[in-house]
Amino acid sequence: MISLLVAIGVIWAGSYEAQLKRAEYYCSSTNKERNYKGLSEYKSLYIKALIEEDGDLRRQALKGLVECSKKLGLDSSEYEKELGQSHRAKKRVKKSRQSKKKKLSLLKNRLRKVVLRRGYVEFLFAYPLKESDIDTKILADRRKGVYKYIFDIEGILGIKPRSWRLKSVKAMRVAQFDRSHIRIVFEHDKEIDIWHKIAGSKLLIYLGKKRGKKSLPRLISNASRVIVIDPGHGGKDSGAVGYKGKKEKDIVLSIAKRVYKKLKKAGYKVYLTRRGDYFISLRNRTRFANKVKANLFISIHANAAPKKSKRLSMKGVETFFLSPARSERAKRIAALENRVDMKNMSYYSKNVFLNFINREKTIMSNKLAIDIQRNILLALRKKYRGVVDGGVRPGPFWVLVGAQMPAILVETGYITNPTEAMRLSNPLYQNLIAEGIVKGVESYFRNSDR
Ligand SMILES: [Zn+2]
Repeated sequence: MISLLVAIGVIWAGSYEAQLKRAEYYCSSTNKERNYKGLSEYKSLYIKALIEEDGDLRRQALKGLVECSKKLGLDSSEYEKELGQSHRAKKRVKKSRQSKKKKLSLLKNRLRKVVLRRGYVEFLFAYPLKESDIDTKILADRRKGVYKYIFDIEGILGIKPRSWRLKSVKAMRVAQFDRSHIRIVFEHDKEIDIWHKIAGSKLLIYLGKKRGKKSLPRLISNASRVIVIDPGHGGKDSGAVGYKGKKEKDIVLSIAKRVYKKLKKAGYKVYLTRRGDYFISLRNRTRFANKVKANLFISIHANAAPKKSKRLSMKGVETFFLSPARSERAKRIAALENRVDMKNMSYYSKNVFLNFINREKTIMSNKLAIDIQRNILLALRKKYRGVVDGGVRPGPFWVLVGAQMPAILVETGYITNPTEAMRLSNPLYQNLIAEGIVKGVESYFRNSDR
């Protein structure tokens, strides 16, 4: 099972050959039901191609969609139109790939020097800066009197991370935020006026006492972002029951509360769908998220092996986004998570519902899933060995249906696996998962703001 997980991970990372072959096989069948299967395989490949900006895969998926639609007597004109445009884009894609490579090498040692001046700070970069290289935001907690002004700049530090005390602000910190972003933070106990200017390869950041009410228009405060955290199950529905009788509903509530606290601390507006051990229907969870106009919906779960014989081999973190794509694995896990509300539904109505999936939202959800999965793994692997990457996958999850915002479901691990069950009950491990989810959210917002 582990090697299967690895194999799926590899497919996700780049090669879609197996899925393409499967789609081709289904579409060439004389069985109509199989043709529909092939069509949905091509759709999912198409979405993956859009997300990964993989032009070749996109063309192959579009060709398949045209062929398969025609065979089924469906309208294929949209796909054909896009395919025509896609051919013209092929050359441009090749060029941009080369420039991406070049760009990565340019990012190295980008920030060379920091000079404190009167009233401003000078940051010397190795290459000229553009306004689009810089992403700014404010994290403000008025109650506690903490104001953070953040500048994320594309690049890799050429100096050691460090912090300073300045006259006008309590602290200024410079650090590597992630693989390709430098983070500069100014922290103070009052609101300040802060603005920046680019002069070739210099970034000048000016600091002043707050005058007037005007804030910088480019700064987006986290306080305007609403996130709903959904601890799975609860009450009569205990979710999966695992090693030593540990219950999914208890573990995920504890993790969700930690995520809640950390997001709150980062300045977001956060809600939990449940705060204790009680039952809520799946529909009401997203209904709540829609009501509070959430920007993101994150459902937290723990997985279970389908058979006792698999409890040792099945482990790992997996993140799902809503899509009708029906891999056996996603279907099985979805069936487990869906069973509370889906028992009385006919197969037909389930499928009709799943067809109302908005493509834009699916792409955003997939992006969020990728960011969160990656950051959970990064966080856990700092302290733990053998954390398995179960990958990011589309799946027909009922709890995500109806959410009007990007929505994902995280399976934080298998509570039927003894090692993972013990880890999942450990506050340290839970905290690392929460840290990963929060970093994933930050990374998602940073990329979607650009
Ligand atoms: Zn669950």
